This record gives sequence, C-alpha cells and structure tokens, in this order.
Amino acid sequence: MTPPAGRHFLQIPGPTNVPDRVLRAINRPTIDHRGPDFSKLTLEILDGLKKVFKTQANVLVFPASGTGAWEAALVNTLSPGDRILMFETGQFATLWCAMARKLGIEVDFIPGDWRHGVDPAQIEARLAEDSSHQIKAVAVVHNETSTGVASRIREVRGAIDAASHPALLMVDTISSLGSIDYRHDEWGVDVTVGGSQKGLMLPPGLGFNAVSERALSAAGEASLPRSYWDWDGMLATNPQGFFPYTPSTNLLYGLREALQMLEEEGLDAVFARHDRFAEATRRAATAWGLDILAQDEREYSSSLTAIMTPDGYDADDLRKVILDRFDMSLGTGLGKVKGRTFRIGHLGDLNDLTLMGTLAGVEMGLDIAGISRAGSGVAAAMEFLSAD
Ligand SMILES: *Cc1c(COP(=O)(O)O)cnc(C)c1O
Repeated sequence: MTPPAGRHFLQIPGPTNVPDRVLRAINRPTIDHRGPDFSKLTLEILDGLKKVFKTQANVLVFPASGTGAWEAALVNTLSPGDRILMFETGQFATLWCAMARKLGIEVDFIPGDWRHGVDPAQIEARLAEDSSHQIKAVAVVHNETSTGVASRIREVRGAIDAASHPALLMVDTISSLGSIDYRHDEWGVDVTVGGSQKGLMLPPGLGFNAVSERALSAAGEASLPRSYWDWDGMLATNPQGFFPYTPSTNLLYGLREALQMLEEEGLDAVFARHDRFAEATRRAATAWGLDILAQDEREYSSSLTAIMTPDGYDADDLRKVILDRFDMSLGTGLGKVKGRTFRIGHLGDLNDLTLMGTLAGVEMGLDIAGISRAGSGVAAAMEFLSAD
C-alpha cells in the first residue's frame, strides 16, 4: 500500500531527517584516525561542540547511541551504593533510572504523571532533607521525548543551590540539544549527555558527555567499573585530536558539517524555528480537538508534540493508517502512554512545508481512521505559519 514514489516522511522525534549536506559530508573515504588530517578534524569538532553545549568545558564524543553516553555519565562519577535522585518524567527517565539501578546505584526515583516535567520544589525538598549529603547526584532528562515535556533546568539548578547541596547535576539533552535553548555552563550542569540523531541532524551513532571541573574531580574518586566509557582515555588523547580507540570517522565528517549548519543559521534562529513549529503543531491539535500530553505551558517541548487519541482509539492504528497511505512515520507511544498517544517530531532539518505536509498527513489519517475531529488543524497551522 506504500506509495511507490516521493520521499518518506520521517517525523518521529529521532532519528531525524539527515540534511543532504550532512549525507554528502559523510560520503567520503574513511581516513587514518591516527593521521594528521584526522587530528585537524577532531580539534575543529571539539571546538564547535562547545558552542552548541554552551560550555568552555570538555565535550567527549563516544562511538555510541545516547544510551552509551548515559552510562558514561554514571560510571565515571559514581561508586557502587551511591544514592542519586531522579524524576519520573516519562519513558527515558525510567530507562535511565533502570540503568543506574543495574549498575548498583541507589536511585530515589520521584514519581511523576508523565504529563509534567521535573518539579524543582520537590528536588529542593528532597535535598534539604539530606543534611548529611548522602545524595551524590541529581540526574534529569531535559526534554522527555516520550511525552513532549521539557523540564526547566535553570530552575532545577536553582533548587539544588537553594538547598545548598553539593550533589552533581546531570542532564540528558539527547532530544533538546540543537533544538531547545540549553546552557551547560550558565546552568551549572556537571555532566550533559547528548546524542547525534536528534537535533544534531546526524544518523545515530555518536554519544556526548560535556563534563564540568566538578565532574572531573568526582571521576577521580568514583569506583564503578569502567573501561570503554572511561573519560580518562578521551581526556588524554583528545587534546592532540585523537581517541583512545577507533572513533566513528565518517559520522565525525557529518558532525563537522552539522555544526557548520547550526552556526550558519545561528542557534537563536534555530531555537526560534523550533518554537514556531511547536506552536503551529499545538494549534493544529487544538483545532482537531485533541489533547496534548504536556499540561503546563512553561514545559511545552519545541522538538516534539505528543498528541492523545480519544478514548477507544488506538494511536498505533492511526499511525499504521498514516504509514500505509502516506508513507509517513510518526512516533509511537512509549511505556505508560502506549496506544494513547502518537508523537510528531518537529526537530532538526525541517521547514514550514515539511511541517504542513506532516500535519496534512495526520489530518487525513484521522479521517481515514474514523477519528472525529472538531475542525481543521491544517488550516489553523497554515494561518499561524503564514501570519509571521
Ligand atoms: C533518544 C533518547 C534517548 C536514547 O538514545 P539512544 O540513542 O536511543 O540510545 C535517551 N534520552 C532521550 C531524552 C532520548 O530522546
């Protein structure tokens, strides 16, 4: 049933569409990763990454999916039995928590309803109770990709400071970096975790850790076993432009190009573009008469929107109709909201017409699936996008 022509619409919230420029950059002979040309490439990239993380600190690049970068953040800074604080914002927070527990870390997992972000007041209260400083870290997801809720990291930092607590702050920015404003240094983050395949517009395969001075000192004490993920090898070889083992050479060509593209557009313009697409998508949902998962407007995600189907309608049936008829992939509901929501990814390489095509596909899909709608989301989004 899939249409035989035209391009596939990949509108999941990651992996995202890879721009032609990045694809062409990757499509090059693999070079010697211990040679002089490679060293130049690495140094250029490590410098460019700092601008995206908004940091003067080291950004380490692992040949890994984002999950590997999660593990690197934990094993380099913590010891067996250490207590950390995490917050149940959705599926990704739940998975990071499960990983920490498997590694032998004691996680205090504050329950959430999957419709809100991290509550800074609860973090402050938990830390204030911990007068003997047993809690070694607070680890939160900035943009919860399963729900389309973005937590206010600046306020989380404020909560830790208000409790005068020395816990490290670790933040997963896998689906926010390069799409939503994020400031590693200014917000006093100790480890920022990133990945290549979302806002950075690359294929999957690179994981990042930006590491503060405090995180580096913690690494000196931390005793969880680590080998592949050990920051030391990276820190020893990166200054010369090298890696302790074979890096993802061709993805790094792509990364250099993607960083260049972000710089050309300007990060503020990139964020504004994402804000605008998110607003248009929410207006479409409102016009359809469908709820979105995010309930607090201060926490709306600019990189994706999770929309709920009415009771009695499985969101995955709708997704199947849309894939079969229009060759468009939308994000499935994950974990606790499986079957209740579908997710529209509006991050990375897209423009007004990409978004309009996406919303048209959803609107037609709703009609074919027999899900009644109040009005036209497409019309509402067009009106918004053409107004400014
Ligand atoms: C995609 C994602 C992950 C997992 O990354 P993988 O590359 O699939 O390992 C973790 N956290 C968030 C917020 C994500 O969006």
